[in-house]
Amino acid sequence: MRFDILSIFPDALRGVFSIGVLGQAQEAGLIEVHLHDLREYTDDPHRIVDDRPYGGGAGMLMKVEPFVRGIEAIRRETGKNTKAVLLSPQGRLFRQTDAMAWGALRGLILLCGRYEGVDERILDYVDEEISIGDYVLTGGEIPAAVVVEATARMTPGVVGQYDSVERDSFYGKHRVGAPQYTRPPEFRGQGVPEVLLSGDHAKIEAFREAEAWKKTARNRPDLLGLRTEQTSIEERSEDG
Ligand code: SAH
Repeated sequence: MRFDILSIFPDALRGVFSIGVLGQAQEAGLIEVHLHDLREYTDDPHRIVDDRPYGGGAGMLMKVEPFVRGIEAIRRETGKNTKAVLLSPQGRLFRQTDAMAWGALRGLILLCGRYEGVDERILDYVDEEISIGDYVLTGGEIPAAVVVEATARMTPGVVGQYDSVERDSFYGKHRVGAPQYTRPPEFRGQGVPEVLLSGDHAKIEAFREAEAWKKTARNRPDLLGLRTEQTSIEERSEDG
């Protein structure tokens, strides 16, 4: 899968993508991450990407043309079959279900805003406007990195053991994962739940499932009412 990121700070994300699972996935050729300097898609000598908002008000707004030219240039390379996404706090909330669906795509183009955001006319040129949460950041670069991280993990082959993915928070069910423990068996008087040391896999599984729901009720009661619409990675890949 290929990710293309349009930003005025393309270098900011290079380090993030070079490490760990994503770094390995790039070396293995499972994913590609292309960072594009938005200023390359301006047509004036000063390479201007922002301007004052119509109607007045503080701050600057990002212009629509460089983003549109950027999307068009990227699609000339990747073909039309790529989803373009604007990162914006005004967008629909990004969820694990999106990461799973998008992980099966050929390509994803991510547009990073700055300043007061982007000229609204950009919405005619993207497939979706996506937020990573109900707070405002100074730029779309970190949100783009969040989307790449979550989506690349769901690209077949990137995370070796599906087993671990399936026990993760939000995978297949609207709940968080179960609490986990490793050595030592006792730390400052705190032990480990007995059942985890029992070797009885059925019991361990039942314990983890129950604990996951308890933790969800405690930390994320908002999730309990949600309808389950997720399919597993295996079901999804059968759909093509
Ligand atoms: N004035 C805008 C906020 C602009 S923040 C508003 O009130 O809605 C500047 C840029 O940071 C945005 O264009 C977007 O690309 C990015 N950004 C900030 N918060 C974000 C969030 N929660 N999710 C996704 N992108 C975000």
